[in-house]
Amino acid sequence: LISKPYIEITLNLLARFGIAVERHGWERFVIPAGSRYQSPGSIHVEADASSASYFIALGAMAEGQGIRIQGVGADSIQGDIRFMDAAAQMGAQITSGPNWLEIQRGTWPLKGITLDCNHIPDAAMTLAVMALYADGPTTLRNIASWRVKETDRITAMAAESRKLGATVEEGPDWITIHPLPAGHWRRASIHTYDDHRVAMCFSLAAFNADQVPVRIEDPKCVAKTFPDYFEALFSVAHTASPHIPVICIDGPTASGKGTLASRVAAQLGYHYLDSGALYRVTAHAALQAGLTLEAADEAAIAKLARRLPVRFEGEQVLLDNVDVTDAIRSEQGGMNASKVSVLPTVREALIDLQHSFQRLPGLLADGRDMGTVIFPNAPLKVFLTASAAQRAERRHKQLILKGFSANIDGLRADLEARDARDMSRSVAPLLPAQDALQLDNSSLTIEASVEQVMVWWQSRQVFGA
Ligand code: C5P
Repeated sequence: LISKPYIEITLNLLARFGIAVERHGWERFVIPAGSRYQSPGSIHVEADASSASYFIALGAMAEGQGIRIQGVGADSIQGDIRFMDAAAQMGAQITSGPNWLEIQRGTWPLKGITLDCNHIPDAAMTLAVMALYADGPTTLRNIASWRVKETDRITAMAAESRKLGATVEEGPDWITIHPLPAGHWRRASIHTYDDHRVAMCFSLAAFNADQVPVRIEDPKCVAKTFPDYFEALFSVAHTASPHIPVICIDGPTASGKGTLASRVAAQLGYHYLDSGALYRVTAHAALQAGLTLEAADEAAIAKLARRLPVRFEGEQVLLDNVDVTDAIRSEQGGMNASKVSVLPTVREALIDLQHSFQRLPGLLADGRDMGTVIFPNAPLKVFLTASAAQRAERRHKQLILKGFSANIDGLRADLEARDARDMSRSVAPLLPAQDALQLDNSSLTIEASVEQVMVWWQSRQVFGA
C-alpha cells in the first residue's frame, strides 16, 4: 500500500465524525456494524496541502516579503503537509499556525538534499523543480509510484528539466537533479503529458535568474485539481511589463479584429483589450454628461476618460455598473467613438487604462494604434484588412443577428467615412506599424485567420521552439 497518508486522512475524518475504524495493520479495515455518523459540531475544511506546495516553494524562492498561505497549516491531517519540512531542509523559512503558513526565503541558493519521499509522493515533485535553484544535487528516493501516475513522472520530470538545461540522472525509483546556475538556463516549451503536477511544477522554472521564458503547454490540464492555479500564481507574481507578451491586431472598422483577437486570446489563455470599446464608452459617457463630442469639450471629455469607471465582464461592457453594451455597439456608437478619438488629449487620457490591460500571462490588443502607439514593442503586430464590400456585408449580418435593422449601402458609406476619419487624423492615425504583418481576410474563414496568427506567434519563438 502506497500513499498511506491519504488513508490516514480518511480514518482521521471518520473518527471526527464518530466512526471508530478497527485497523488490522495496513491490510484490513473494519467498520463496526451499527456505526453512525455524529456531527463534530464545527469543523475546519482544510485547503489542499499538495496544492500549497507550489506556493511554499515560491515563498522559499521569492525576494521580498514571502508568502502567507491560508487554510492549511500545522494542524493539517494531510500527509503532504510534511512537504514543509522538506522545503525547510532546502532552506525555506517557515512559521505556522493551526491553519496557516508563512514562508520566506531563508538560505539562498537553496540547499541540495537527499530525501526518502515515500510519504509525500505528489508534493515531492515540487522539490524536483526547487532543486534547480539549489547549491548542489538533490536526490529524491523511494518514488517508484511516480512511474505509474498520470504519466511516468520520473521520465517526465527528467526530460523537461533537461530541456531547461539541467543535468538529471534517474533510476527505477529515484531521481537526481543538478542545479542550474545563472547563465545556464535555456528557454523551453514544457510538455505537460496531461499531468497537472508537471504543469504546476514547471511554472516555478519561470522564476530563473536568467529570465529565460518558459512556456507551459496545455496549461488547462491543471483543472484536474487546481483550475485557477495560474490565476493564483499570477496574483502573487510580478513581472516587468516588457516581459509580458502582447500581440497587437490593428485594422479598419469591421475587419474582424475583435473576433480574431478574442479567439486567439482564448486559445492562448491571454487577456483581451478591445480598445475601440474604450473610445465608444468615452463617447457614451460624454453624451450622458451633456457634453458635445467636439473640440470645444475636449478637456471635459479627457477628464471623464481619465477616470472612466468601465468594466468588462465577458461580452458585457459596464459603465458605472450599468450595462452599456448595446448602446455602444450600435453604428451610432461607432461614429461617436470615431469623433472623440480624434481629440489628442482624450487619446492621451486613455493610455494608462490601456497599458493596465498588459497583465500575465499576456495580452491580445485590438484597435487602430495598438502596434504604433500603445504597445510599440509588442513582439507580434498584425494589420488586418478586408475589402469594404466584405466588411459592410459582415457588419450587416452582425446587426441583423442582433435584431437591428440595417442597410448594406448605408453601412458601407458609414464605414468608409469612419476609415477616412481614422486614417487622416493627426494623432495616431490608422496605419500599419512598420513591423506589422498584413493579413487580408476577405476570403479567409475566421479559423484560418486564427491559425495564421498562431503560426506567426509560434515563429516568433518568444518561448523557444
Ligand atoms: O474598433 P471599434 O469600431 O470599436 O472602434 C470605434 C472607433 O474608436 C474607431 O472608429 C476609431 O475611431 C476609434 N479607435 C481609435 N483607436 C483605437 C481603437 C478605436 O481611435 N485603438
